[in-house]
Amino acid sequence: MPRFAALVAALALLTLPAAAPAQTTVVRTADPAKRGLKESDFPRTTKVADNVYTYEDFHAGPEKFTTTNMFVIYDDGVLVADGQGTPAATKGLVDAIAKITPKPIKYVVICSDHGDHTGGNKAFPPDVKYVVHPLSKAALDRESERGGAAEGPPARGAAARWRLPIDAELVFARKPLVVRGEDIQVLFLGRAHTGGDLTVYLPRKKILFLSETFLNRVFPAMRSAYPSDWLKALDRAEAMKADLYIPGHGFTESGPVSKEELAAFRKALAAVVAEATRLYKARVPVDEAVKKANWGEYASWTLASSQGPIAVRRVYEELSGALK
Ligand SMILES: [Zn+2]
Repeated sequence: MPRFAALVAALALLTLPAAAPAQTTVVRTADPAKRGLKESDFPRTTKVADNVYTYEDFHAGPEKFTTTNMFVIYDDGVLVADGQGTPAATKGLVDAIAKITPKPIKYVVICSDHGDHTGGNKAFPPDVKYVVHPLSKAALDRESERGGAAEGPPARGAAARWRLPIDAELVFARKPLVVRGEDIQVLFLGRAHTGGDLTVYLPRKKILFLSETFLNRVFPAMRSAYPSDWLKALDRAEAMKADLYIPGHGFTESGPVSKEELAAFRKALAAVVAEATRLYKARVPVDEAVKKANWGEYASWTLASSQGPIAVRRVYEELSGALK
């Protein structure tokens, strides 16, 4: 082809509309309706890499957003990171895995011990190996004695009938799981949303499942959080330079968007801590501070109205030294 013709052809290619379906801009929100999704689109399974999937189902409650799990298929089994809040919802996850692979679920990593991620655990096969941080183990043991879960639906009743098996594997800092066909590491990046927060890292694929350490466009929920440690845990997650970060609530994003959203969440958490700190330093009594707090752009994030006051109280506790 003469050079001129080649140039014309190249230019024509440049101006051609994309052959693939037009790329829609993803709305940055945890609200499924604002993303143009319907209730009937859930629960849903999303393939994020070879043998790696996320599963998203709705969190119970007035505001619609998803609770997100990850599962990894290796040579002779499946590892699941977090469950859903009720046995029926977690059975949905188990069934979704069975549609993709006949391999058995062998590991369940409890990344968040809260009821909306553990309340359905009795729907997992009885012989799975649980992996848990000692602080989460203590929280779960306490709760099953009390007959409910610490936070989130449905907890009471459902969790009471499930007890963490005594042979659960404890992860204090870092544990590589020895499985064939995939490198899987369970990491504790520091106390964050629950205190016993675990994450699952796939170093070959550079995928990090952060569970509730990363709430994607959901207001920083602090009922049992460690605000300043949480910020450091997010710094460690960012420093790992993963290609994909998966949240425990909110949507599974593409890799590049997930990095931006992780940074956006860190910024939100820092802003919430800063606003509560400002009120504390101005000696505003906590009951007044919960009404005075100005969340700025974060006031529109999912759960802001219910979680804002809880965050103020938690930051006050930390600043006064009541939170150890
Ligand atoms: Zn939680």
